[in-house]
Amino acid sequence: MLGGAPSIGVMKPDGPRSTRTRDVEVVGTVDKLRARLRRLRPARIGLVPTMGALHAGHFSLIKRSARECDFTLISVFVNPLQFDDENDFANYPRDLAIDAVAAGRAGADLVFAPSPDELIPAGDFARIDVGDLENRLCGRFRPGHFAGVAAIVSKFFNIVGPDRAYFGEKDWQQLIIVKKLVKDANLGLKVISVPTEREPDGLAISSRNIHLSAGGRQAAPSLFQALICAKKLISGGEERAERIIARCSEVIARQPGVELEYFSICEPETLVDVETIRGPVLIAGVIRIGETRLIDNMVVKR
Ligand code: AMP
Repeated sequence: MLGGAPSIGVMKPDGPRSTRTRDVEVVGTVDKLRARLRRLRPARIGLVPTMGALHAGHFSLIKRSARECDFTLISVFVNPLQFDDENDFANYPRDLAIDAVAAGRAGADLVFAPSPDELIPAGDFARIDVGDLENRLCGRFRPGHFAGVAAIVSKFFNIVGPDRAYFGEKDWQQLIIVKKLVKDANLGLKVISVPTEREPDGLAISSRNIHLSAGGRQAAPSLFQALICAKKLISGGEERAERIIARCSEVIARQPGVELEYFSICEPETLVDVETIRGPVLIAGVIRIGETRLIDNMVVKR
């Protein structure tokens, strides 16, 4: 989640005053945000943490918050702590001016867009140990990623003090880790999960999809197709995870230019791999197409 806004056309979130575009207010510093929120209480505040480059997936989180809360705050912060690849961080799409207008249209009241310096002081920085969940699924391939997510999400929770926070099921491991953080630290807010928004061909909508070439875009729904394949096999009575993984990996392998990072079947809350499917499971996978890493998952109940 996250991002300092490098180039801002019409707004200056770190300027002397908070600024407004249409109905959405943009705030760049913690002090200004705290002062602004103090005036709001006791309104019910909904928080939607994002890294910007807003799309239909983010809008569905914002709309849900706008329906359920009196005031919806969206954070836009490209969190350097959660990137393990400098290029990925440098190339992450950023346009705060466009995001602010889009967030307002979707129903947000305020955009919090701090710079990296505002949130992450120079020198050693306290991370958060999220326990065993950190080492599962994507954590095996992205060491430190979820500790970086947890550090920044907990900062947002402390700065904003939301009543509710909205997270997408597309990033299932992140969602489970945030729920654990809230529970274990008695943060006293409600974490609301929102289903994945997809393109008509099933591809999960992601800010990274714009990096795909025409051929890559054509091959990208193979991950969703593999999830559907797993679902069908389970509905058909297949219980052996190993067999399902082998069959679904073939669906992906058939696509030229697509590399499978992992395809797993695990328990949805602990993310521990399952060998024999007896109850609900999470099917989760990651593919790489060129430099682009795409992630998707589905919870399947027998
Ligand atoms: P990001 O900007 O990628 O960090 O995402 C911010 C929030 O939006 C996270 O809670 C994501 O899980 C959620 N999100 C991203 N893509 C989608 C999608 N296609 N559908 C639903 N939620 C999404």
